[in-house]
Amino acid sequence: MHQKLLKSAHYIELGSYQYWPVLVPRGIRLYTYEQIPVSLKDNPYITDGYRAYLPSRLCIKSLFILSNETVNIWSHLLGFFLFFTLGIYDMTSVLPSASASREDFVICSICLFCFQVCMLCSVGYHLFSCHRSEKTCRRWMALDYAGISIGILGCYVSGVFYAFYCNNYWRQVYLITVLAMILAVFFAQIHPNYLTQQWQRLRSIIFCSVSGYGVIPTLHWVWLNGGIGAPIVQDFAPRVIVMYMIALLAFLFYISKVPERYFPGQLNYLGSSHQIWHILAVVMLYWWHQSTVIRNEDSGNVCHIFWHPAWTAYLI
Ligand SMILES: [Zn+2]
Repeated sequence: MHQKLLKSAHYIELGSYQYWPVLVPRGIRLYTYEQIPVSLKDNPYITDGYRAYLPSRLCIKSLFILSNETVNIWSHLLGFFLFFTLGIYDMTSVLPSASASREDFVICSICLFCFQVCMLCSVGYHLFSCHRSEKTCRRWMALDYAGISIGILGCYVSGVFYAFYCNNYWRQVYLITVLAMILAVFFAQIHPNYLTQQWQRLRSIIFCSVSGYGVIPTLHWVWLNGGIGAPIVQDFAPRVIVMYMIALLAFLFYISKVPERYFPGQLNYLGSSHQIWHILAVVMLYWWHQSTVIRNEDSGNVCHIFWHPAWTAYLI
């Protein structure tokens, strides 16, 4: 029995002298960078551990083997469960105890739903990127990009809704412009060249613009609330800045392919830039959820906002 198990165990190289035993189900084998189809060739510094040419059933089965996509898949699958659990916790405990209004429930649900969709689209893409049909791979890739837009939308909805709680006009202006932008990105994806490697730069520019646009409502909000010295600005502005710093850091890893660029073939399974980008994305969305403000019912005609109760745990 022991001998049999050993026979079916494959050893894959993790770094120069590290080997990891994996049980690879029949029908799935791992390929090197040279062996995979051109459409999968994106990162030459990841030299091995690719799944390829698989039917749907084996794509799903590959969830349980160690390949160079395992961390990418599981980081966002766990991210999905995190936001799902947070949603249930918010709806059943946090919001009722803060005497939240129906609006608060709706906004909080939209925000967390967008985060969950973002996570699941990413899981789907990384799970099916090895599909034998190139068309299927591209569809999942498009869905992954759509998921990122939906994640960004979730951040905007909660942020703009509470930041401009007392200013209905500007709240509508920013919500509508954000929605229009996200829709424009969706339609851009229909363009046959959108997912090609030649358009990679343009895709990055589009996503940076959509995310960077948030600086405008933020500065406007600072000005409307009495400038940098105002207590509410002092409380909330650092949270927005931290959010943008995490996003910027994640993006830098994403485009630069650091650190595997400096250690080609050594970070195939663990520690590559895309994995760092995935984890930072979860951290960023979690940070934004924890920073989301909800309305204080007792503040009367003074528009007062206070922190998500979850924040007090960090502040004390
Ligand atoms: Zn990804």
